Amino acid sequence: MDVSRRDFLKVSSGATLTGTALGTLTALGANLAPTAAQAQELRIKHAKATPSVCPYCSVGCATLIHTIEGKIVNIEGDPRSPHNEGTLCPKGAAIYQLHVNPNRPTKVLHRAPGASEWEVWDLERAVSRVAELVKETRDETFVERLENGKLVNVTTAIFSLGGATLDCEWNHVQQKLMRGLGVVAIENQARI
Ligand code: SF4
Repeated sequence: MDVSRRDFLKVSSGATLTGTALGTLTALGANLAPTAAQAQELRIKHAKATPSVCPYCSVGCATLIHTIEGKIVNIEGDPRSPHNEGTLCPKGAAIYQLHVNPNRPTKVLHRAPGASEWEVWDLERAVSRVAELVKETRDETFVERLENGKLVNVTTAIFSLGGATLDCEWNHVQQKLMRGLGVVAIENQARI
C-alpha cells in the first residue's frame, strides 16, 4: 500500500496507541508479513541448519542451530518438534547468547575468604585448589562404617550440584567420580 508522509505523521502522532514506527505502519494497514518473512529468510539464507536440543531444562525443546562457515548466526525452535512446535520459552529463545556473548566471563575468578575483590586465576591453579579442598574434606569426613558396623563408604560433607546444560557424557563421568568419592548428595536437573 502507498502511505503518504502526511498519513504516516498523522497516525504517528497517535503513537501512544502503537508505540513504534512498525506499529504505526500496521495501524495504517500495511502488511508487514512479507517484509518480516524476507528478513527472516535473509538472516539464515546461506546458513546450515543443524537440529539440536535446548540445554536449559529437562523439557528438552528442539532447536535449529544456523551456522555460516562454522559460526553460529542464529538459534531458534525447530517447527518439526512435536512438543515445542518451533517455540521456545524466553530462556531458550536467548540460547544464542550461551554461545555468543561478549559479557560472558572467560577467566576463572577467585575471591579469597574475607576479600572484597576478585582475582583472576589460571584454570590449572583453580582445578588444583578444588582437588585439594575435595581431598581435605573427604579425608576429614569420610565414614566407612556406621555405628552398627554396616559398611557405607560415604562422604556426606560434599554436595554435587549440576545444571541441565551438562550433557549426558559429562553427567556419566560426574556420577562415576562422585560415587567413587563416596558422595551421595548429588542433584542434577537431568535426574540421573
Ligand atoms: S526452551 Fe525453555 S522450556 Fe524448552 S527446554 Fe529450553 S528452557 Fe526448557
